[in-house]
This record gives sequence, C-alpha cells and structure tokens, in this order.
Amino acid sequence: MSNDTMSNLIQKQKHFYNSGQTRSYDYRLRQLSKLREALAANERNIMDALKKDLNKSEFEAFSTEIGIVYAELAFAIKHLRRWMAPKKVKTALTHIGSKGRVIAEPYGTALIIAPWNYPYQLAVSPLIGALAAGNTVLLKPSELTPAMSSLLAELLGGIFDEEYVAVVQGGPETSQELLTQPVDYIFFTGSVNVGKIVMQAAAKQLIPLTLELGGKSPCIVHRDAKLKLAARRIVFGKFTNAGQTCIAPDYLLVHRSIKKELVSHLREAIRELYGADPLSNPSYGRIVSEKHFKRLASFLQDGSIAAGGKTAPDRLQIEPTLLDQVTWDMPVMQEEIFGPILPMLEYDDIQEAVDMVNARPKPLALYLFTQQPGIQEKIVGSISYGGGCVNDTLMHIATPYLPFGGVGESGMGAYHGKGSFDTFTHYKSVLKQTNRFDITFRYPSSKNGLKLL
Ligand code: NAD
Repeated sequence: MSNDTMSNLIQKQKHFYNSGQTRSYDYRLRQLSKLREALAANERNIMDALKKDLNKSEFEAFSTEIGIVYAELAFAIKHLRRWMAPKKVKTALTHIGSKGRVIAEPYGTALIIAPWNYPYQLAVSPLIGALAAGNTVLLKPSELTPAMSSLLAELLGGIFDEEYVAVVQGGPETSQELLTQPVDYIFFTGSVNVGKIVMQAAAKQLIPLTLELGGKSPCIVHRDAKLKLAARRIVFGKFTNAGQTCIAPDYLLVHRSIKKELVSHLREAIRELYGADPLSNPSYGRIVSEKHFKRLASFLQDGSIAAGGKTAPDRLQIEPTLLDQVTWDMPVMQEEIFGPILPMLEYDDIQEAVDMVNARPKPLALYLFTQQPGIQEKIVGSISYGGGCVNDTLMHIATPYLPFGGVGESGMGAYHGKGSFDTFTHYKSVLKQTNRFDITFRYPSSKNGLKLL
C-alpha cells in the first residue's frame, strides 16, 4: 500500500470517527454482534487457515484461539453498557457545589499490529477491545501467516467498511509505514526488539501505546511439587503450538533433589500428550518458517538431550525436547526460545532461583510448582513479572477476569476482559462547577470565603 493510500485510509477513518457514530452503545453492540456472527460462520475457514499456516489441530485451534475469542466477545457484549457508563466520583470539601465525572472516551483511530504465533486470537482479541471502546481500527496481521492474514482481510472486509475497520496486509515495511501515520493509539504484540522500534516511532508523535512482548519465562519446580501433575502441566504449556507461545515456560529451574524424577515424569507426559513418535502425530504443530526452524535446530547442540531431539526439516518440525546440562552462557539461554525445546537448570536453595531470575530482564510469565504457601508467597512477592500461575502453566491468559500483559522488557499495559476496554479508552475527568455561589478563597487578595451569586 502506498503512503498516499495509507494516509487516505487514515483520514477516512478519522473522518468517520469524528462523525460520532462509534460513540453510541447501540452502534458498538451491533458491530460486536456482527463480528460474532461472522466469526462463527467462518469457524471452518479459521481452522483451515490455522492448519495451513501452523499445522494447528482443530483441538488446539479451538482451545487456544477460537474459544478465547468467543469468550472475550461474549464478555465484552455482556458488560459493555456498564463499562461505557460515565462514573460519578465524590466531591472534595474544597470543591463543594461541583460534580465530578470520569468519562470513558475512545482514543480515535487505533493501530493493531499482530504477530504470527496465535495469528487469529492475537489479532481479533485486541480488535474486540478497540471496537468495544468505540475506536476505528487499522489491523496489520503478520506476513508469516499468510492464510490467516488474507482470511482476516476478507472476513472483516465483508462486514465492516474500511472507514471503520481496515486490514492492512504486509511485512515490516508496511508496519513501519503505518507507524508514521497520525493514529491515536498503538497496540503492538511481538518481539522485544521490534517493540523498541514501535515505541521509538510512537514517541515521535507521542502516541500512547500498549506493548505485548516476550522474553524468557521461567518455570520453577520446587522439591515438594506434585511431580507427575506438574510434568503434565509443564508439557502442555511448553509444547502447545510447538512451543511458539509468548508465555510458554522458556526454561525450567528445578530443585536438584527431584530433577531425575521430574525428567522421567516429563518423558511420560510427552508420550501421554503427543504419543511415542510426536513427529508422526498429525496434531503436533510445526515451526512457522525455515529461518526459525534453523535457529531452533541449532539449540539442539547445547547441553545434552534428555528427551526428544529429532527433527523433520521437510515439515519444519522438532520433537518435544528436554535439554539437560545447560548453562546460562549457552546460546539456548541467551534469547527467547519460542520453540519445542525445554532446557533445565538446577538450584539447591530457592533463593538461588530467585536471584537467577532477578538478574535478568523481567519475564512475561512465571510458573511455580510447589505446595508450600510460604514458597508461593516468596516467589510471587520477590520477583517482578507480567503474570503467571502457581501450580499450572498458561491458564492465566485464558480468563477475561485477569488482565494480561508484561512489565519492563516483557511489555507495558495489559488487556483481556475489562482490561481490553480500558486499554483502548482514555478516561477523561470532568468537573462541573456550580454557578449558584463562588468560593472566593482561591482568588488572590480575597477577603470573603463564600459569595452568593
Ligand atoms: P515480530 O516482532 O517479529 O513481529 C510482530 C509484528 O511486527 C508483525 O506484524 C511484523 O510484521 C511486524 N514487524 C516485524 N518487524 C518489524 C519492524 N522492523 N518494524 C515494524 N514492524 C515490524 O514478532 P513475531 O515473530 O511475529 O512474534 C513472536 C514474538 O512475539 C515473540 O517474542 C513472542 O514472545 C512475542 N509475543 C508476545 C505476545 C504477548 O501477548 N505478550 C504474544 C505473542 C507473541
């Protein structure tokens, strides 16, 4: 798309936004309902696109993408009226006679830039928040999942005029072009490095933004954990979508005394969830591109392989793999893995685990397996991270009641449920003063406190 076409599109959206149509409850509700109908009618096409782009099974497509979007939509539709209502606030004694209100105001035109790993959910979920909050939207899906990108363009183009919702397809150049436009809000999901580029671009125009980024999310397994159950939940969290999940446990920090036993439970859980030969399991995901496949395959040289380790380069697949004897200076520990490879490190004292995590950038997620409330409190209270679970993995992302987002290098801002509405809303504070009297203390050289008018 040329710069002129893009700029025309944005002007069109601004014009439409300024017409005030997106402000009403009825309008927003109608659009969300229309979206829900179109998504439901296209469920088959969505599954096909996910299969084509990432070899996602129907089960995974529903549980990690389609189902989450339905839940977000239903939640937004149910609560929209209450979220939109202006909130009256108390009046301070110094402001007697006046009334204060906080008004939920849309930003205007929102730009959403989405990644490829959950190409449906991570594009549509923020879209729901942006529309619920009354914005117009420019959505740029990832070029690495072309089937989903064109499906979204077709599907959303079929129900919305481009002055309200427009899908702009393209890669980094298109994204950078969009970032020079005078949009009113930017919502970016992707890598830390690109997040920095996005924030710099936003800074040039002082555009407010949300950054949903990534990083290395630790999973701590303490010596008293219920190991069999922990192993199943870890395997689920790590190997769903072949490890290409922003909140997947990136690495394990395991109490030395239980490592051997945990490894044998992890092997068993891999067999239970993906079969004895995951590479021949049609439901096991593939790596998104050859570039990422090669990057991941090179990590198999690090440490020693404790499970898996085989690859199918023609299908871009890597077995669920456990790496033992890993140290922090190995390449696998230098960047977010984002694939089905799980390195393990050991600790003797829980404080060591805390220190190791705190010495690195604040992670997007953290998982802890222990039954001891004292250890749970210690970890939750002494490590800064976006969000996470105690005795589980991933599940904190799938409830509209928990805002989801990172902190520090893993991002800023949060969404899901009401959090999505809040993200795309400017809360405008308005004080309405009385004209019946005037408190004159505030004026220079005033003598009387109160003057009736
Ligand atoms: P990415 O940063 O490469 O790309 C994300 C989006 O940015 C894509 O639409 C892409 O076209 C665009 N883009 C790429 N390079 C750009 C550039 N130089 N300038 C402007 N835009 C550019 O990320 P990805 O590979 O698609 O996704 C994987 C990353 O995203 C991982 O780091 C993962 O942890 C993170 N992630 C985070 C979340 C979250 O919710 N916090 C969710 C999923 C993925």
